[in-house]
Amino acid sequence: MAVTRTFSIIKPDATRRNLTGAITKMLEEAGLRVVASKRIQMTQEQAEGFYAVHKERPFFNDLVSFMISGPVVVQVLEGEDAVKANRDVMGATNPADAAEGTIRKTFAESIEANSAHGSDSEENAAIEIAYFFKPEEIVG
Ligand code: UDP
Repeated sequence: MAVTRTFSIIKPDATRRNLTGAITKMLEEAGLRVVASKRIQMTQEQAEGFYAVHKERPFFNDLVSFMISGPVVVQVLEGEDAVKANRDVMGATNPADAAEGTIRKTFAESIEANSAHGSDSEENAAIEIAYFFKPEEIVG
């Protein structure tokens, strides 16, 4: 398997509880390396654009409000099959369904406030990385 990159967000429920380090440690222990990271306050426009694929879903407005309710940490992660490694350690969307030892099982508050985002494909990872980072901000 090749070394690839994916995109991660530590969501507002997690930054609020000072879990940036704990979540990053779990990502690192899963074999991922943080090659870019910044703490930002997303604007409404940024959050709407990021989740545009979900704009017809009933949870869209609440999700956007949640994602701008506090700071987030956006990260580029690098490792062997990074998309899968990140999705595996993140766990299922709903923490009630997430496996033991995953980020969402350990930290998520609800299906919405579920502590972490991870790209679901390499194609989306490239789009999401470019949405938040300039190439020179990523140092492998
Ligand atoms: N979400 C929600 N309600 C739902 C499903 C999803 O609030 O019923 C939120 C949740 O924060 C999730 C995000 O929308 O992480 C994106 O949903 P997706 O289905 O893409 O899940 P993910 O890829 O994040 O596991």
